[in-house]
Formats: sequence, structure tokens, C-alpha cells
Amino acid sequence: MSDTPAYSNVTEYFGCNVFSDTVMRERLPKSVYKSVQRTKQFGIALEPAVADVVANAMKDWAVEHGATHYTHWFQPMTGVTAEKHDAFITPTDHGRIILEFSGKELIKGEPDASSFPSGGLRATFEARGYTAWDPTSDAFIKDDSLYIPTAFCSYTGEILDKKTPLLRSMNIVGEQALRILRLFGNQSATRVMTTVGAEQEYFLVDKSYFDQREDLVITGRTLFGAKPPKGQELEDHYFGNIKQRVSDYMKELDYELWKLGVYAKTKHNEAAPAQHELAPVFTTSNIAADQNQLTMELMKKIARKHNLICLLHEKPFAGINGSGKHNNWSLTSNDGQNLLDPGATPQDNMQFLTFLCAILKGVHEYAPLLRLSAASAGNDHRLGGNEAPPAIISVFIGSELEAVIEALESGKPYVSNTAEFDIGVDALPNFKKDTTDRNRTSPFAFTGNKFEFRMLGSADSISCTNTILNTIVAEELRQFADELEQAENFDKALKKLLVRTIKEHKQIIFNGNGYADEWVAEAEKRGLPNLVSTVDCVPLYKRDEYVELFERFKVYSRVEIESRTEILLENYTKVITIEALTMLDMARKQIIPAAVKVTKDVCDAALSKKQLGLDAAFETGYASRLSGLTAGIGNAVNILDEKLTAAQAIADVEGAAKFCRSDVFTAMQSMRALVDELETIVSAKDWPMPSYTDLLFSV
Ligand code: ADP
Ligand code: MG
Repeated sequence: MSDTPAYSNVTEYFGCNVFSDTVMRERLPKSVYKSVQRTKQFGIALEPAVADVVANAMKDWAVEHGATHYTHWFQPMTGVTAEKHDAFITPTDHGRIILEFSGKELIKGEPDASSFPSGGLRATFEARGYTAWDPTSDAFIKDDSLYIPTAFCSYTGEILDKKTPLLRSMNIVGEQALRILRLFGNQSATRVMTTVGAEQEYFLVDKSYFDQREDLVITGRTLFGAKPPKGQELEDHYFGNIKQRVSDYMKELDYELWKLGVYAKTKHNEAAPAQHELAPVFTTSNIAADQNQLTMELMKKIARKHNLICLLHEKPFAGINGSGKHNNWSLTSNDGQNLLDPGATPQDNMQFLTFLCAILKGVHEYAPLLRLSAASAGNDHRLGGNEAPPAIISVFIGSELEAVIEALESGKPYVSNTAEFDIGVDALPNFKKDTTDRNRTSPFAFTGNKFEFRMLGSADSISCTNTILNTIVAEELRQFADELEQAENFDKALKKLLVRTIKEHKQIIFNGNGYADEWVAEAEKRGLPNLVSTVDCVPLYKRDEYVELFERFKVYSRVEIESRTEILLENYTKVITIEALTMLDMARKQIIPAAVKVTKDVCDAALSKKQLGLDAAFETGYASRLSGLTAGIGNAVNILDEKLTAAQAIADVEGAAKFCRSDVFTAMQSMRALVDELETIVSAKDWPMPSYTDLLFSV
């Protein structure tokens, strides 16, 4: 950076590139500011005249901050963000220009939608799509453009992005949660919002090594690579001291994120060598989703300035922990309550137990939906791989809370270490946060005052998971509210409802070690699905009961779900295909030629020794092993090639994805095993690419 940043003045520069509430208050006439607030809170559309004033103020502010362009920033189904930049310029007489930005341009954009993934929808809608301003997420300036967070729809109204369903799901779970609050006598809250804090894991590798690996450049993960002599066995990296180069990177990342108003808070080394984590302070879900996208983008961009590459792939290195994203989630009412805080007062505790039971029921009934919200080719390497949660969905609530639930179910008093509480009369102990211990193996864990969904992959958008989570919780709260609002005696009805819910859904609770093989067997006994890979779970998206759920709340229509299913499966096939093609290319152009050359060198050595009458048994044996492996790799190349051709001939989207998993992926694994074995017996100087040791220990 040319202007050496004074990183320490955080309070001064935090959010300096954001068109925030403070800026709006300063720059907008009071009545206009109030209209914007109403739009933010209640979704009431802005009057055109008012929108013009807001747009003009935004433009003036942006231009003062060096912006020349604006862009509607949206999140299509690619999983990354999209933007198209328009300059503020409008021509006037005599070849001159003025800078303009109208309310119309602020509220609605019309990018061509035809090149974004739409699943089966493409046939049913016009190429045109439109983007609509999301006023609840602040506009900001980046690279001399004013970024306006927006939703993206087709012209006929089908949603084409990840933000629209998220916003819808936030509203419906908020409405249903409010019904529950009213039942508990709360008249002060008028809104309930969902909050999210997304912890982000990533790897940093040296750019010069990265550039020498076709697999990393093209697919973001190593497709070959023998295990390094040292991996993460010594557990010396987690929370270890941060090296200077990495620290410099992290500082600049924080600085850039803070300027954009992103609440980057915690940074540390993770379990694997070269792996790190950044955690933000939680915020409203849609803002958290936007901020996580910005975080991922800046992580990659700033790394390059430090001659580093940030890998966000879920599994860049086989045999080394992969990267995930923990989605911390809660519900907050606008009278200041965290609804998942067990709290200190008995009434709130019963309210808390009601929300807890609704969540347990929702997770149990809709486990496959949560599972598929984290499904991707990359994440398949992690889930169930003894590093990330298993592919089986269960809920961890900790022993103390489990005891409370059991007491409630049985009607017996709950005995804690310090006191006895009669659950029948609404009492629950005041929790110490640390009693919800840190079980890292659970996919869905209660952590004191929030739930943490740990299945997401590091590269995933958090929108899909939160859309699904919000919708299933909305459904359960709806059922609870319907039943309780009819009750003559609320207390009695509530107790009956909770006891019944616990009886029917407690199988979803599991506080033990999710990595253990016994859990797989136990989960099967409990009837909990174990959907191992993307192709096992994504096709379930279209189940009638799920379609009904989403249609009931107008989160997705059937066609929209079908299109999303198709996009996910198509994407899986594309990723596997690209990986397989990259493997073939590397094997043919780099690995086999290297193997042939080394084999020849060894044969030459054997021959020379023999000519001198020396014993060449070692060289002959070595050459024979090299030769055998090379032939094996040649054979594996042919098999993979055939499988790939067969996959490409399958027209049916689901069939193609399934074949990629069963045949192509398996062929890739077999080929990799041979190449990795070869790598261990070839000298470093003859191996055509940097090793795992180079990549993992050079920064
Ligand atoms: P860890 O899981 O590594 O122990 P922390 O306890 O530091 O992490 O918190 C993880 C994340 O949870 C942070 O991003 C934090 O802001 C978020 N978080 C805390 N409270 C809430 C809440 N009420 N809603 C959503 N996220 C929350
Ligand atoms: Mg966590």
C-alpha cells in the first residue's frame, strides 16, 4: 500500500468505505432518512422521489470517496458474487458529462441473466433478469466502485440467487418466533431477526510453489501428493504463534475488512500446517452472508499482494485437515433478547426450552435438508473423514441441558450439582456457558447461547444453509404456535407439547464422539440418515414434503427447487470432470515423462555397473519397481479416460453425477494412489512439481 496504513486507529477508519446509517443520517433530509429506515425495517418500498434523493446522496458520497462507478452486487447460483459496473457519467452538450445516479438505477438493475446458472429455469424465463436493492445491507466502496447489495430474479419472478430466499426465510422465522413470544406474554418485541457469525478457515501457500502445480491452479486442490514426513501429528500449529509473513497478511486483511465495515474479530492458526481461521462478530444473517463473501474475496486478493495464495478449497491436501466454515446461528428480538440464551429467569427458561424443542424437532425431521445444504464435491472429502463432523446429522446439547430435557420428559425434578429444580413448575438452572462443552465432532452443537452448524465447507456461501435452517425452524414454530394459541390452559398445553416433542425427537440428540465408528452403527439404529456424498443427498431436495415446506412459506417454488437441485448436481459433475481432466493432463505431460526418465537413468546406472562387473541387483530391483508403477499409471490413465468418456455420454443430470461419484472419482483415487507411491521413491529433483512439504512448510 502506498499510504502506509495506521492500522491502530481502528475506531477512525472502521466502516469508512460504507454508506452506513451514520452517513445516511448526516446526509439525508430527516424525512428521507426516516423513509429509508421504514424500508429497512418493514420492507416498504421507497417512493420514487425519495429514492432519487437517496441515490443522489449515495452518489455524492461515493464520488467524494473516489468512486467513478456503481454496481449492483449479487449472489447468483455460482456460489460467488457477480457485479457489472456502470459509470456515473451522463453525456451533456458539447461533449461534456455530468455525474448522475437516479433512484431507479439504485432500486433496480437489469443484467442479462442468460449466462448465470438457472437449472431447468432457463427454458421458462426470458434472458433478462433484474437485480433489486437490499436496503438492509449497506452499500460500500471497493476498487472505485459503489457496491449496492442486491437480490437477483428472472424477469418472470423466479429467483436466481442465494440472497432472495435467505431474506424470505429470515422474515418467516421472525414472524413465527414472534407468535411464540406473544404466547409468553411478550408485547414489547415487534421483530425477531436471525443472527449469524461465520468462522472461516483457509490455507496460505507460497505463490511460487502454487504456480508450479497445475492441480492447484486449476482446481484449487492437490490431486496428487505423497504424505509429508510431518503433517499435523504433533499438533503444534493450532493456536501456535503466527509467523511474521502470515501476520502481515492478517493485519492487512483486517484493515481492509474493517474499512468495509466487516466485523473481523478473531484470527489464529488452525490444526493443519499452513491453515488459519478468521472469525467475525455475528450480525444479521443476510449481512453476515454478504460479509462472508467479501471476506473470502479479500482473503484471496490480499494474499497475492504478499506473494501468497489463499486456498479456500475444502480439502486442498489429502491426509491433512480440510477447511470448513462454522455457521453460528441464533434468534434475537428487537427488545434485546437472544432467544437461545437459557437466561436467568424461569419464565425465559420455559421460553428457551420451547425454542430448543422446536429446533430439535426441525433438525430431526429435516436432517437431509441440512445435510444437502453443505453438499459439494469439495466438502465430500471432509464430512465423515474424521476431521469434520460426520455426514450424519445430530444435535449436541451438552450433558446439563440433556439432563434438563430428560427431567422435563419424565416429570421428575432436575438435580444439578448445586440445586434441585422442579421442571414441572417452569424452572431451569442458570447456565454457565462453559458447561456446554466444546464437542468438536458434532455437526449441530448448542454452544451456550447459539447453535453452531459445523458442516459447511470453507468455500460455501452460507446463504443456502441459513435459508434452510430458518425455514425448518419457522415450520416447527408455526406448528407450536398453532397448537398453543388454541389452548385453554397455556402452561398445561405447553408442557404436554414439549414432553411429546422430546419423546418423539430425542433420538437426534447425541453428545458423544461423532468420529467413532460406533456412532455410525448407533445412528443407523436410531434411524438417522447417513448421506455420505453429494449425490446421495442432493436428489432428496425434491422430495414432496420438502417442496411443500418451501412452498408453504413461499421461500422456493417447486420449479425453483428443481432448478437448484439440478445446478448442484451439474456443478458436482463439472468439478469432478475438471479434476479428472487435470489429472490426466498432469499424468500424461508431467508424471509419466518424469517416471520414464528416472527409470531410464536407473537402467543406465544398472547397465554401467554390470559392464564393470559390479552387482546391479539394487538398481535392477529399483528400475523394476519404477517400471511397474509407471505401467500401472499408464493403465490408470486409460481407465480414467474411458470412465470420463462414459460420464460425458450420460444425458441425465442425476445419472451423470452418480456415475462421476461411483466410477470417475474411484478411478481418480486409484490413479492417485499409484502416483503418490511413485513420488515417495523418486528424488525431489526429478519430481515434476513441489511436494507437500514444500507447500505446507514454506510460508
Ligand atoms: P469458537 O466456536 O471457535 O469457540 P467463538 O465462541 O469465539 O468461537 O464464537 C464463534 C462465533 O459465534 C463468532 O463469530 C461469534 O460472533 C458468534 N456468535 C456469538 N453469539 C452469537 C449469536 N447470538 N448469534 C450468532 N452468532 C453468534
Ligand atoms: Mg466454532
